[in-house]
Amino acid sequence: MIDLHSHTNESDGTFTPLALVELAVQTGVEALAISDHDTFAGYDQALPEAQSRGLDLVCGIELSTRGPGRARAVHLLAYFLRDTPTAEFRAWLGELIEGRRDRNRRLIASLREKGVEIELAEVERLGRTLTGRPHFARILIDKGYAPNYEEAFRRYLGETAPTFVERYAPDVPVAIQHVLSAGGLPVLAHPIRLGMRDPDTEDTFIRGLRNAGLRGIEVFHSDHDPADMERYGAIARKYNLLVTGGSDFHGDIKPQIALGTGYHGNLNIPMTVLNDLRAGA
Ligand code: AMP
Ligand code: FE
Ligand code: FE
Ligand code: ZN
Repeated sequence: MIDLHSHTNESDGTFTPLALVELAVQTGVEALAISDHDTFAGYDQALPEAQSRGLDLVCGIELSTRGPGRARAVHLLAYFLRDTPTAEFRAWLGELIEGRRDRNRRLIASLREKGVEIELAEVERLGRTLTGRPHFARILIDKGYAPNYEEAFRRYLGETAPTFVERYAPDVPVAIQHVLSAGGLPVLAHPIRLGMRDPDTEDTFIRGLRNAGLRGIEVFHSDHDPADMERYGAIARKYNLLVTGGSDFHGDIKPQIALGTGYHGNLNIPMTVLNDLRAGA
């Protein structure tokens, strides 16, 4: 069993990189990709521990991009950038993190305008490389503004909440080109979250991304039911896209998602998926 999608506390997960390696070993995950949002810091810290524990650690990263047309946010995974996070790519990540800081300042203003007593400093204290909305949620819960993460997003942080603020996101073709020119493999993350109910629309959308340089698609994911995995597997074959999969483990902010086995055991991804990915990269 392998897991090619996970987050540490260097982005918005709750496990330290070392604790995540430990959990993977305990759970029987043979290969793990750390794919934090916008940073390699978790992967960098976990690598020596993974090597000494015999865990095959894969370098990943997850980028939030803007989809073409009416499509909402598109999450792009990028693999194998370890040896080539070029200076150019690292500088670009710095811009994305600066975009988060700008969003966080505006989000604080938006919340305070609605009477929420919250300070940027207390939220940033929870984050390491970056501060994300789950850190805001933690503070809102601790202060009694929401009973749990779901409600904190519904009331204050999610796209439909009155206090929501956008953050800068590069257009998806631009992000794909950044990944390709740094020697990475760009993969469409959890396509179910594009929210496209019509299969033809979805197919056309994914073909467009392939034409923009996309190399793979996350067929296996905690949010995918068996029919989704079947459909995305067929799209991968049709467009000659590589197949990836992972749980999207975040730790305590998404307690229903387990490392390796996903949501109620809906995942059991074989090592052949990673072998094929490496061969195709
Ligand atoms: P950000 O990247 O800072 O805009 O925050 C987005 C992150 O918030 C996602 O990567 C998820 O980890 C988390 N998230 C989004 N919606 C929810 C939700 N409804 N409940 C819990 N976590 C969420
Ligand atoms: Fe996240
Ligand atoms: Fe995502
Ligand atoms: Zn993720």
